[in-house]
Amino acid sequence: ESLSVGELAKKLGREPSEIIKKLFMLGVMATINQELDKDAIELICADYGVEVEEEIKIDVTDLEVYFEQNEEDGADLSERPPVVTIMGHVDHGKTTLLDSIRQTKVTEGEAGGITQHIGAYQVVDNGKKITFLDTPGHAAFTTMRARGAKVTDLTILVVAADDGVMPQTVEAINHAKAAEVPIIVAVNKMDKPTANPDRVMQELTEHGLVPEDWGGDTIFVPVSALKGEGIDTLLEMILLVAEVAELKANPKRRAMGSVIEAQLDKGRGSVATLLVQDGTLHIGDPIVVGNTFGRVRAMVNDIGRRVKEAGPSTPVEITGLNDVPQAGDRFVVFEDEKTARQIGESRSSAAAVENRTEKSRVTLDNLFEQMKQGEMKDLNIIVKADVQGTVEAMAASLMKIDVEGVNVKIIHTGAGAINESDISLAAASNAIVVGFNVRPDVNAKRAAEAEGVDIRLHRVIYKVIEEIEAAMKGMLDPEF
Ligand code: GDP
Repeated sequence: ESLSVGELAKKLGREPSEIIKKLFMLGVMATINQELDKDAIELICADYGVEVEEEIKIDVTDLEVYFEQNEEDGADLSERPPVVTIMGHVDHGKTTLLDSIRQTKVTEGEAGGITQHIGAYQVVDNGKKITFLDTPGHAAFTTMRARGAKVTDLTILVVAADDGVMPQTVEAINHAKAAEVPIIVAVNKMDKPTANPDRVMQELTEHGLVPEDWGGDTIFVPVSALKGEGIDTLLEMILLVAEVAELKANPKRRAMGSVIEAQLDKGRGSVATLLVQDGTLHIGDPIVVGNTFGRVRAMVNDIGRRVKEAGPSTPVEITGLNDVPQAGDRFVVFEDEKTARQIGESRSSAAAVENRTEKSRVTLDNLFEQMKQGEMKDLNIIVKADVQGTVEAMAASLMKIDVEGVNVKIIHTGAGAINESDISLAAASNAIVVGFNVRPDVNAKRAAEAEGVDIRLHRVIYKVIEEIEAAMKGMLDPEF
């Protein structure tokens, strides 16, 4: 087996330049892409006091890839519950709906259980389970996606029938679309005398969500989260969509999944809510979670009961990790603790190196480079402007840009300042943000810097078009 200098550096959690220097001392001139033979690898590893055999056999830079490569033959697939996120405009009733679903359903089968907030919960409807992520707001959803985790199978878009489509409704739609997650619309607050569900349907149609009655394929369910009305129908529809999606997992293999939330607890140490996405997680399993590792010491479910195992789509809170992972981190169970520890440690030092190096987000400056390398087929753009008319004019002009090899794709538009949600969507979708007569607010500015999202601000439309077109053709003047 051979490895390039760059790959070896990554595995060892060192800078490539350091490896090149060491090789030079050994009389080998090498570049970062140079393939090294077994002897060279062994020499370098010995120098760092690392055993070659085990360190090199397992590629752990991507836990998910590792998991997939290790799929056993004759996979034993069976149906798994859908994982649902609730999104929508503030005050449209997301929290109330989550509470209402939980109250009406959890109590049925699990009498006596004390609801415990672990960031997700499961309900049973007609003998079938549904998992809800109960971190309302799309920030959580997008943060996870930005970290590469695809946990949501389905989104419930809550729209208050007395208020209609609002800016965050549109944001939510675009977040879900970018993630290619199907949407069911819950038209909420139907108990209010001022409720106008037709208006909601009309307005959503303009955003591509057309009710079935009107010839479209979006399911609309009228509900009153407050009164608990329509909840049964909503759950039925969720199960219907899930059935069509044929969600499957293999409960017989070692577990894999994502972190829903995690924090440091004074008494218990690192506490993380994991969503098992495939396989079954057991007490005592050696595990790598993001850049942390350990053994599952205790597992508690969403009603505060201790459990010994958790199958696909089940959220559980675990303890036993050496450090606190981040929401959206992937986890994988390994065969033995030694391997888990080794992989956890090497991932954590590799992450430290990565933090010091540039992120590979698209910017207008590196766009052409990424296009040339065939990494970019769509240039995703978020358009913000001072007034709606301008937004539309800009989006239309941008879509007309015609450069071979790359498509302009407008993934979100809106009137008003560039906000944090724009940045998180941009980060999750590898997009740039174009602002016309608007600026980013303080939080957006901070987030953009942290995430390396490119924001372009302009006051003249043709300049925007010119700049993006130039970047696509690789003719952008460097900015100083
Ligand atoms: P969120 O910001 O989307 O999580 O919204 P909340 O769940 O906090 O709800 C905002 C307000 O709307 C609260 O005062 C709720 O009591 C109220 N509300 C939520 N659902 C309904 C409903 O179905 N009917 C009525 N009348 N009020 C509701």
